[in-house]
Amino acid sequence: MARPFRFQLEATDGAARRGAIETPRGTIRTPAFMPVGTAATVKAMLPESVAATGADILLGNTYHLMLRPGAERIARMGGLHSFMNWDRPILTDSGGFQVMSLAELRKLTEEGVRFRSHVDGSRHMLSPESSMEIQRLLGSDIVMAFDECTPYPADAATARSSMELSMRWAARSRAAFGDRPGHALFGIQQGSVFRDQRAESAERLIEIGFDGYAVGGLAVGEGQERMFEVLDYAPAMLPADRPRYLMGVGKPDDIVGAVARGIDMMDCVLPTRSGRTGQAFTRRGVVNIKNARHADDPRPLDEACACPACRAYSRAYLHHVFRAGEIIASMLMTWHNLHYYQDLMAGMRAAISKGRFAEFEAAFHAGRAEGDIPPL
Ligand SMILES: [Zn+2]
Repeated sequence: MARPFRFQLEATDGAARRGAIETPRGTIRTPAFMPVGTAATVKAMLPESVAATGADILLGNTYHLMLRPGAERIARMGGLHSFMNWDRPILTDSGGFQVMSLAELRKLTEEGVRFRSHVDGSRHMLSPESSMEIQRLLGSDIVMAFDECTPYPADAATARSSMELSMRWAARSRAAFGDRPGHALFGIQQGSVFRDQRAESAERLIEIGFDGYAVGGLAVGEGQERMFEVLDYAPAMLPADRPRYLMGVGKPDDIVGAVARGIDMMDCVLPTRSGRTGQAFTRRGVVNIKNARHADDPRPLDEACACPACRAYSRAYLHHVFRAGEIIASMLMTWHNLHYYQDLMAGMRAAISKGRFAEFEAAFHAGRAEGDIPPL
């Protein structure tokens, strides 16, 4: 019999929380960072390498997978876990955000969104019901309710009608998801930067009842200051005994600030995408490996990092392979970035357990303020 999905809150320090999400496919230690495996791969990484960085869970994108290779095909191949050779938990988004940002000829109605594929122009429909069905075919462990990510900026009336549509879709998602032991359905709070709307959205989601709750509609161009203003109150509106997920965040300092405000889970393409464009995240800020200053530097990206890129390769080598367009540049830089992100999460989890999150935060900001090691 499948183990039920459950969230255990283990420690709190201020608003910061440490916990664990138990799923039949393994435990997700929170605060958790989820690497993004858009098209059934975390780009430039083998799944076992992603696991070696310390990731307990991956995110897959419903929109991309439904178009290519198709959810039915993935189901015939035994589901997304077996298809991509990742046996730990997977969270899939609903497709709602990407259909609005990537698809062509979109038409949004009460029923859902009709659109044409950006891959081959074929016609599709995403609705709460079809999104639940696609995520079931993919076999994801954590399913996201289908919603409309309210664009930013939005005036109060626009934000309200968008939030209300998302709440009607949340109820339809819940009904279509049904009863699937061991699988979780998360609702998504909307309401833009309006506190009363965030509160109302939270109330309506709690009334429907979800296994976890996401703070949606942030990281859409509002900037860190406004995002933190919303996070100062929005997570506390959601049930304390369920995981809280901030979608699409973010830079390391966004992540630390979000955890400080009570967020348990995050995802972002930043560490993987930046790795492929030559940017490394370190304890001392961002290193642009393409800069000429690294060409003769025998030191690693970060002396304190235990990842393969830092243990066995110099900045000079990484600079060379990046400039030469070699595939190993993407592999090593991505590995380092994912390792850095997971180290950051592990550091925060340990600090919360010890009641030392404020000290951790201060040390994090002090390291970044120092800046990169001086050139030789
Ligand atoms: Zn490293």
